[in-house]
Amino acid sequence: MQKIDDKLQKVTERITQAAIAAGRNPQTVHLVAVSKTQSADAIRQAYHAGQRLFGENYLQEALDKQQELTDLGELEWHFIGPIQSNKTRPIAEHFAWVHSVDRLKIAQRLNEQRPVNLPPLNICIQLNIDDEASKSGIALNELPELVQAIQTLPRLRLRGLMAIPSVNNSPEQQASAFRNLAEAKARYEFMDCLSMGMSADLEMAIAEGATHVRVGTDIFGARTNA
Ligand SMILES: *Cc1c(COP(=O)(O)O)cnc(C)c1O
Repeated sequence: MQKIDDKLQKVTERITQAAIAAGRNPQTVHLVAVSKTQSADAIRQAYHAGQRLFGENYLQEALDKQQELTDLGELEWHFIGPIQSNKTRPIAEHFAWVHSVDRLKIAQRLNEQRPVNLPPLNICIQLNIDDEASKSGIALNELPELVQAIQTLPRLRLRGLMAIPSVNNSPEQQASAFRNLAEAKARYEFMDCLSMGMSADLEMAIAEGATHVRVGTDIFGARTNA
């Protein structure tokens, strides 16, 4: 089995190449290592290979691993999974970023519950870019209203947009989903984050402007209980 530091290095190299191919500075693309279902030890290995940004989907699992890793400095935790409104407090307390905000009620609770001793919580609004009824994220036409409402919340810092396009997309459909998200972001000059692209399609996402790619499998290997 390939070691995590080798795989991490390969992913970093892919990001660099994709950025250069797109005429972008590779440093404008941030790698969020998606560690859901992976052990605290796997995160530790990635940390020792230089990785600092980690993405988690399941709250309790994430909190348990954070407890095990308190000896590591500078870890930046990104919550990227669906959010239940009764679980917002620990998210507001234990994460630096939330990529998956898709309703005002969640944003309001995160705003109220963000501890005063921490900087404002970085937020991305999740868009349902392929219009699939089954998935989380808001429709494009709901975006202006949610943006406006979130901007009034002082303990949140609205950074940008996130999407998980359909796994059934053809490459063309995937490119157009990424492009639609990039165009939506471009309407808001203050936004500096476009969270899109995973193991299989990070190159395409970077070509369309991704600033945060969320990569799990190609760093940690297949998930056993995903
Ligand atoms: C699991 C997950 C990823 C990582 O997907 P891979 O295909 O394993 O790279 C990225 N984003 C979200 C929201 C996820 O849930």
